[in-house]
Amino acid sequence: MKPTPPPRPTLLAVLASAFALVALTWSLPTCSLVKPALAPPEVRVLLAKERPSLELSADGPYEVYDGRGKLVARGERMGRGVLRGTRHGQIELNGVVCTGPTLQLRPLSGTRFQFADTDYPGDLLVLQSTTNELSVQNVLDLETYVAGVLLSEMPSYFPREALLAQSIAARSYALWQLQNGQSHLLATQSHQVYGGTGPRQSLAREIVQSTRGQILESQGKPFCAFFSSTCGGATGDVHRVYSGAPQPPLTGVACDHCKDSSLYRWQRELSLSEIGRRLAVPRGSVENVYLQRDRFGRPSRMRWTGKGWEKQLSALDFRYTWNREAAKDEQLPSAFFRELDWKDGVLVVDGAGFGHGVGMCQYGAAGLAKAGHSYQQILQYYYQGAQTVRRW
Ligand SMILES: [Zn+2]
Repeated sequence: MKPTPPPRPTLLAVLASAFALVALTWSLPTCSLVKPALAPPEVRVLLAKERPSLELSADGPYEVYDGRGKLVARGERMGRGVLRGTRHGQIELNGVVCTGPTLQLRPLSGTRFQFADTDYPGDLLVLQSTTNELSVQNVLDLETYVAGVLLSEMPSYFPREALLAQSIAARSYALWQLQNGQSHLLATQSHQVYGGTGPRQSLAREIVQSTRGQILESQGKPFCAFFSSTCGGATGDVHRVYSGAPQPPLTGVACDHCKDSSLYRWQRELSLSEIGRRLAVPRGSVENVYLQRDRFGRPSRMRWTGKGWEKQLSALDFRYTWNREAAKDEQLPSAFFRELDWKDGVLVVDGAGFGHGVGMCQYGAAGLAKAGHSYQQILQYYYQGAQTVRRW
């Protein structure tokens, strides 16, 4: 069937649409300068440090630049690249010595570098230390970095609004670190777990793209947007948990939205003699402990006592001290000790939550999302008084 041509516009219709266009133009604000889109900042993530040699590969074309920014090699694929530091402060790649103590490998046409069984987007920067050992950093933009963090820090099956909230928290946390003296980020829980181009990257990229450039600010400045797995009933006050200055969005809120977490409640039995040994107290066993708690009952400081001694430390430091030598099933999942019970040489701890408990509670974010709350509402709940602003 022959398609019917569209009707020709009449002169009146042409004049009417021209008038409508003029009216629309006049109705626009006089100052309609569009701000140029800013690019996300560059991030460096430490993947390994102080190794005598490094091995990596590239699944497609790549270029290699030496410490002076000069192109020294180009390849179509690299099956096995072995890097070593030379005694003269230079780096050797597969036996070829390159000038200077740094080497930058740049991917072309979507190539991924592989290092330690993980695929990485962006550049790899190899640095030689004064002891001729090598470190490697992944150099990439903040958005791509957040996509590599998202599903390492939150399960992909969590509700979409929780993932969106997580992407903003992760971006804000990283930006704060970069703006507060960190030359590079660690790929571990010390900062944020970064998995490079991990599984389900299309989901991660789509979530991160949906919140592109959005960061959390308090009083016009980024802040360290902490988050942790399960608060166990209330989030912690950063000032009490870590000391330092109080921060308005991180003072703690009640939260019973994380009850789905398997670590909402837990119990551990700690041998009193082991506590004494790990706290390195003079001699004799632990006799008592006094806890300073916040308004939600989260302990902030602990005072351990015995015959002729006492030891004070933060609840978080006690958890770290205990866990350093504990087997996996003996570890304290958090420092939220709700009840302590003394029994025949053992301290029975009834605890709550998993992680440091400051900032957004991730299981709580999932709970709020399941109850129909948006990512903005989730962020507003856990970072009270904070604003979400778009910076690029
Ligand atoms: Zn919670």
